[in-house]
Amino acid sequence: MTARVVIVGNGMAGARLAAELHAREGDRKVTVLGAEPHRAYNRIMLSTLLTGRIAEPDVELTEAAGHGIDMRTGVPVTAVDRSAREVRTGDGERISYDHLVLATGARAVVPPLPGLDPTDLPQRVVPFRTLDDCRRILAVADGARSAIVLGGGLLGLEAARGLATRGLATTVVHHTGHLMERQLDPAAGAVLAGTLARLGVTIQLAVPATGVVADDTGVRLDLADGRSLHADLLVLSCGVRPDTALAQAAGLTVRRGVVVDDRLRTSDRSVSALGDCAEHDGALTGLVAPAWAQARVLADVLTGIDPLARYRPRPVVTRLKAAGIDLAAMGDAAGGGPGEELTFADPARGTYARLRIHDERLIGAILLGDNPAVGTVIQLFDRGHPVPADRRALLLGRALGGAVAAPSASPALMPDAAVVCQCNTVTKGALVRCWRSGARTVDAVVAGTRAGTGCGGCRDAVGGIVDWLSEAESVEVTR
Ligand SMILES: Cc1cc2nc3c(=O)[nH]c(=O)nc-3n(C[C@H](O)[C@H](O)[C@H](O)COP(=O)(O)OP(=O)(O)OC[C@H]3O[C@@H](n4cnc5c(N)ncnc54)[C@H](O)[C@@H]3O)c2cc1C
Repeated sequence: MTARVVIVGNGMAGARLAAELHAREGDRKVTVLGAEPHRAYNRIMLSTLLTGRIAEPDVELTEAAGHGIDMRTGVPVTAVDRSAREVRTGDGERISYDHLVLATGARAVVPPLPGLDPTDLPQRVVPFRTLDDCRRILAVADGARSAIVLGGGLLGLEAARGLATRGLATTVVHHTGHLMERQLDPAAGAVLAGTLARLGVTIQLAVPATGVVADDTGVRLDLADGRSLHADLLVLSCGVRPDTALAQAAGLTVRRGVVVDDRLRTSDRSVSALGDCAEHDGALTGLVAPAWAQARVLADVLTGIDPLARYRPRPVVTRLKAAGIDLAAMGDAAGGGPGEELTFADPARGTYARLRIHDERLIGAILLGDNPAVGTVIQLFDRGHPVPADRRALLLGRALGGAVAAPSASPALMPDAAVVCQCNTVTKGALVRCWRSGARTVDAVVAGTRAGTGCGGCRDAVGGIVDWLSEAESVEVTR
């Protein structure tokens, strides 16, 4: 049994690991060292914070800093001495460990443009990764009239939608020919651009930026086609890079991320890594669901509850969290290859659907616009079940007869194994069991299962299941 566990990084992965360790029996001392000055917060919800629909206290993570957990904020770890098994903090303190966990996350990429020094960005030029970034964006946005977002990926679009919601004339500048090119095909990108335009966001595509000039009064972004755009604020959303500096300096194997095996062990058996900083099986994750799944596995391994626990990646579903835009993308939807391809587009209504099916299984999908089949499509993709013969029902979201049904339409027809909360991998069966064990409100079921505590996108579905259970009980009682 591990006696002293030191976790470097108090982000979504580090804080969750501490909570998972706390939830398991055993005599161990857990120390969490976080460089940020804040208590752990839900980074995912920063996009929503930007819109003004929630306030700062709403993004605080509810993970308990309980008995046996020493949580320290504002404490950067500057070095790891693996032979002495200790870490050194910014103020020179040395802390010994029996097992070290790196949960150092990722940093926003500052593009190498003339006028941008990553160590000294102008006040009106802000990346979008941390709560402090979000505060700076909001401080500049307050009183500003216009903003440019550099980068038309998922986070850039969420930031742009948030700033437009605040009344800023917002322009997204993207270097390639269509938005979210990692998840969408060009046709879907075009429909999405149309939807954003209707919501007041201007899109500039296929125009690399060439330089930035910023002072106290505004920002100028120079483009490769010779134009310059002017605004009060420039938000940088140009991707993230795993924070591997500490691991690298400590001599651990690092490729794009800190290399880990199925048990999240690095090249040193006394050191593990998880979350955005880790590279498992050649892949970076960059999402909270895998980070939290890794935290469960690592807690089982470190506490000895299941020393043979293994992290197995699950299929990833990407959803855009922007009011007025429904978008879900999963698997290899944009690529070509063998199998069936079904598409439907109605750009005027902002609707696009694309399904890729191989061997009767869904291998990728893009659903843009209101599509009642989205829940069913996600479940089919997630569980690898055969798709129904009536493909049109899936594509167009018409009423589905037969084996599958949209969760929102009828929780009764959802299989128990259907995953309702993707971030925490909570199934309908787990929600039902929680309700049966006495949780009678949505909040109680959320507290009991953690469903809805990630991106929050499944809260309505959880509410629907609780309503359905309550109704079923009242019918039984009246009978
Ligand atoms: C605006 C936004 C929206 C997002 N939306 C989604 C979404 O909808 N769905 C989704 O799945 N994911 C989303 N993500 C990604 C998600 O937030 C990350 O996958 C998740 O935060 C990864 O957790 P982590 O703990 O590995 O890294 P982080 O949350 O980045 O935490 C790492 C922590 O380690 C600290 N640290 C680094 N080095 C040191 C050191 N040497 N000493 C001490 N502390 C250190 C950092 O300061 C940081 O606090 C979003 C991200 C952003 C920025």
